[in-house]
Amino acid sequence: MRDDDGKRLKPGTRLVTAGRHESVAGRGIVNPPVWRASTILYDSVAELRAAGRKPDDGLFYGRRGTPTQWSLADALTGLEPGAEGTLLFPSGVAAISAVLLSLLSPGDELLMVDSAYEPTRAICDGMLRRFGVTTRYYDPMIGGDIAAMIGEKTRLIFLESPGSLTFEVQDVPAICAAAKARGVTTAIDNTWATPLLFPALSHGVDISILACTKYIVGHSDVMMGSVTATPGHYAALRRTAMELGQCVSPDDAYLAARGLRTLGLRLRQHEEGGLAVARWLAEQPQVARVLHPALPGCPGHDLWKRDFSGASGLFGIVLNGGDDAARTALIDGLDLFGIGFSWGGYESLALPVDPAGLRTATTWAAEGPAIRFHIGIEDPDDLIADLSRGLARFESARR
Ligand SMILES: *Cc1c(COP(=O)(O)O)cnc(C)c1O
Repeated sequence: MRDDDGKRLKPGTRLVTAGRHESVAGRGIVNPPVWRASTILYDSVAELRAAGRKPDDGLFYGRRGTPTQWSLADALTGLEPGAEGTLLFPSGVAAISAVLLSLLSPGDELLMVDSAYEPTRAICDGMLRRFGVTTRYYDPMIGGDIAAMIGEKTRLIFLESPGSLTFEVQDVPAICAAAKARGVTTAIDNTWATPLLFPALSHGVDISILACTKYIVGHSDVMMGSVTATPGHYAALRRTAMELGQCVSPDDAYLAARGLRTLGLRLRQHEEGGLAVARWLAEQPQVARVLHPALPGCPGHDLWKRDFSGASGLFGIVLNGGDDAARTALIDGLDLFGIGFSWGGYESLALPVDPAGLRTATTWAAEGPAIRFHIGIEDPDDLIADLSRGLARFESARR
C-alpha cells in the first residue's frame, strides 16, 4: 500500500498522481472505474482457498473492497508521509468510533480534547462508558502539560485541531511527544485542515481521521470517513474495521476520488474567500470576536502559523450582545448562505452554534451568541454584501 516514491513529490502533484491503479483498473483510463462487486468468482476450489489465505491481497469478497476503493485509500495514504495505509468508513463518525473501539478496552482511560466534535463526545459518554472506558476531557490549549494527566491506565489521547465550533489550535507536536514518552497512542480528527494543510503523521500523530464528507468529497453529496495510520497501528485498525464490517460503496469511493483531485485548488479558494469574509467581519461593530485560526485572537493562532500551511473555509464569530432571536434574524434572511449541518462543499453555510453546553474541562464565556460560517467558492464580495445586510438585521433585532 505504501508509495514511497510518490511521497517525494509535492502535495499538489500527489493529489493528481496518487492512487492510480493502472494495472488493475484498466490501462489508459485516468479515473479508476466503478467496480461493483460482492461475490468474486474463482476458477477452482484450490484458487478460492489460496485467495482465502491472503485475503488482504487482491480481490476476495466485496466487503474487502475493489480497485475503486483501494485507489481512493491509496491516494489518501499518499498524502500522509509516514503512513502505512488508509481505511474507508461510511461516515466520519464511523471512522472515529472504529478508532476508539479498536484501541480501548474495559478499564482503559481516554484523554479527549474538550473542544471535540459533539458526536465524538457522545461516543465517549455513551458507548465507551458502557464498555468500562473512562474519558477525561482536557483543555485544548494544554500543550505539553498533558503529561501531568497521563496515568497508568491512559491508553489513547484524542486531538481535534482546530476544535469544533470554537477553533482552538492545539500544540500537536508537544502533546504527541508527551504521549510517546509514556507509550500512549495519539489520534487526531484532522477534518478541518486535511493532510494537505496539516500532514498530521509528520507532526507526531499515530492515527489521522478525516470526515471525507467535508473537503475530500467537496460537493455535499457523499458521506464518508477515513483513518490513515502509521505502520505500528494500521494492522490492528484494519482488523477492527473488518470485524465491524465497515466498507464504502464503489460509487461513493469514485465520487470521493473525483473530489480529491481538486482538493488543492478548492482549499486555496476556501482560504482566500474565508479570510476575506473573516477579516471584514472582524472590523464590524456587531462582531465581538472572529474565531479563525489564521487571524490573531483565535486561541492557538501562533501554533497555526507554526504548523499549518494554510487555512480552510470554516470559522466562527461571536456576536456583540444580542440573543438567539437577533442571531436568528441575521441568519434567516441570508440569501447566499445555506442553513444546514456539515460543511466542506463548494457552497457557503451559516449555522447557529452554542458551545457552552459542550464543555466540561473548560468554560465557554462569550459576549453574545455564536455563528459558524463555511465560506464556499462564491465571490467573497457577494457574501460580504449579504452578511452586511444580515448584521443590519441583527442590529435592529438587538435593540
Ligand atoms: C462532520 C464532522 C465529523 C463527522 O463526519 P460525518 O461524515 O458527518 O459522520 C467528524 N469530525 C468533524 C470535525 C466534523 O466536522
